[in-house]
Amino acid sequence: PAAPPTNMFAEGWLKRVYEEKPVAVRTRFPPEPNGYLHIGHAKAIAVNFGMAKHHGGICFLRFDDTNPEKEEEVFFNSIKEMVRWLGFEPYQVTHSSDHFDRLYELAEELIRKDKAYVCHCSKEEVNLQRGGPDNRSPRYGCAHRERPTEESLAKFRAMRDGEYKPGEAHLRMKQSLTDPKEGNPQMWDLAAYRVLENSWHPQTKDKWKIYPTYDFTHCLCDAFEEISHSLCTTEFYLSRQSYDWLLEQFDMKVPGSEEKGPMQREYGRLNVEGTILSKRRITMLVNGATLTIKNPDGTTSTKHVPPAVRGWDDPRLYTLVAIRRRGVPAQALLNFVSELGVTTSLTVIQTYKFESSIRKYLERTVPRIMLVLDPVKVVIDGLPDDYRVDVKVPYDPKAPEGASRVMPFTSTVYIERGDFRKVDSPDFFRLAPGKTVGLQNAPFSVKCESFEEDDEGRVSLIRVSKVEGVKPKAFIHWVGTEGLDVTARQYNTLFKCEEPNSLDWKEGGYANDLNPESEIVWPNAKIEPAFAELRKEHAASPSHASDDLVRFQAVRTGYFCVDPESEGDKLVLNQIVTLKEDSGK
Ligand code: ATP
Ligand code: MG
Ligand code: MG
Repeated sequence: PAAPPTNMFAEGWLKRVYEEKPVAVRTRFPPEPNGYLHIGHAKAIAVNFGMAKHHGGICFLRFDDTNPEKEEEVFFNSIKEMVRWLGFEPYQVTHSSDHFDRLYELAEELIRKDKAYVCHCSKEEVNLQRGGPDNRSPRYGCAHRERPTEESLAKFRAMRDGEYKPGEAHLRMKQSLTDPKEGNPQMWDLAAYRVLENSWHPQTKDKWKIYPTYDFTHCLCDAFEEISHSLCTTEFYLSRQSYDWLLEQFDMKVPGSEEKGPMQREYGRLNVEGTILSKRRITMLVNGATLTIKNPDGTTSTKHVPPAVRGWDDPRLYTLVAIRRRGVPAQALLNFVSELGVTTSLTVIQTYKFESSIRKYLERTVPRIMLVLDPVKVVIDGLPDDYRVDVKVPYDPKAPEGASRVMPFTSTVYIERGDFRKVDSPDFFRLAPGKTVGLQNAPFSVKCESFEEDDEGRVSLIRVSKVEGVKPKAFIHWVGTEGLDVTARQYNTLFKCEEPNSLDWKEGGYANDLNPESEIVWPNAKIEPAFAELRKEHAASPSHASDDLVRFQAVRTGYFCVDPESEGDKLVLNQIVTLKEDSGK
């Protein structure tokens, strides 16, 4: 199983956060179960689970499920699976909703302390009270703010009992809205509870008609679970004050001190450019989109954009399910996050940086074998029909004494179409009429004597002769007649441009920038017969439990893995990354 990267805890921001509060570490990873995790979440997982692991502490997986309108069972399951894929085991899987009763009790207590009130103002009215559109006008409290606590309590119970429709009543915290010196909008009487109509909650079913907000829920759940370090991303920096304020109301925290209760600290997000991470936009790529277009004459029309990928786990995406399916090892992803390090600033990284990190990891860890994507048959003249030489080849050329396989070399072999040219040229060193090329690991080189082509001019057969004692200028890879048939898929960027987020997503212009070569399928590829052994050995090895894919370097081509949808003998391979930067474009 994957071990967490550790160097990011031994120095920098994470080390300082620990030193600020050097206690037994209890952290949590708190996703909203409203979508699939993406590469940015891998950072949050590595930070929270990794910090606990580094310090011998514990980490909760807490589903922040306070918004039942957007939550679905598949997301709960997928999130759990991805945490485990990354090699972490939650101390406990919890839900904010596990604490709904206790949160409700505390809401009543807050009202009794005159620190919360039921408000009936509209969204627009609340915005005006909070200083208007630019937050600059004088702020003021509404009449509800001054109502007796008994009245708020009765109204809050009425909210609970379903007597209000959404928007007719909400519970607000009585913070510093009316203090002209309070500059933090997070202190301007935030909402604590709201009414949601027809809400069916995956955990609490139809029990609740009111749901607590993030601002009310998060700090309290952290306190309930005795979280020591509550690590979140920097967009919550201003929330730290309201986080502490609420805990202080219940003596769960002491003003101006981190001695008691959880400590919130904020780190920079990880954004990846060159791909799309927004849930809404990936949904458009997965499902296709129906868009309303404004015409120049003021009328509108409808435009349908077809799906651009096969699903949320399409290897061209950067969701974690897609990254896994593409074949990226969990440890390589963790190493990547660790290498980037953690600070308070946003990390923006291009997809090719991610790929080069993966490549670096795979280079040291996977066997090398030969795969021919677009095979052309080569017949070696003058050999007996039953000619066969078993060549023993190490899986790692740098470790000739290490594990090896047998490559049966026969009188017919398959080579890559691109390694042959009908017309030779001086700058071409591979196979062409009259030219000699080496076949990697084969007992001799071959010289092209003639070739045949089909009606469309595609080469269908190459005849060669055996050449000995001449050192060829180049060596190419090959697969003998015992090779296995496979389908291989290669991936390139989904979009032609480098910043697909800046495309037109509103009216569907993004569709024009889709890269027609984002997926290239080779349905007749051939791989060495030893691949069957490799798969068998892999299946028998117990060490692959959380990261169960066969990966290899296809010599001269790229890194590949077996797609999980392969069935029996019908093998499908996914290219994880190319061998060298940009070589696939
Ligand atoms: P998104 O809108 O991209 O789904 P989110 O913040 O709504 O992000 P959550 O489900 O709330 O997603 O995320 C769970 C945790 O992961 C949070 O602590 C959040 O701060 C963190 N997180 C989300 N996106 C990133 C990112 N790009 N980099 C680092 N951490 C992230
Ligand atoms: Mg969120
Ligand atoms: Mg989210």
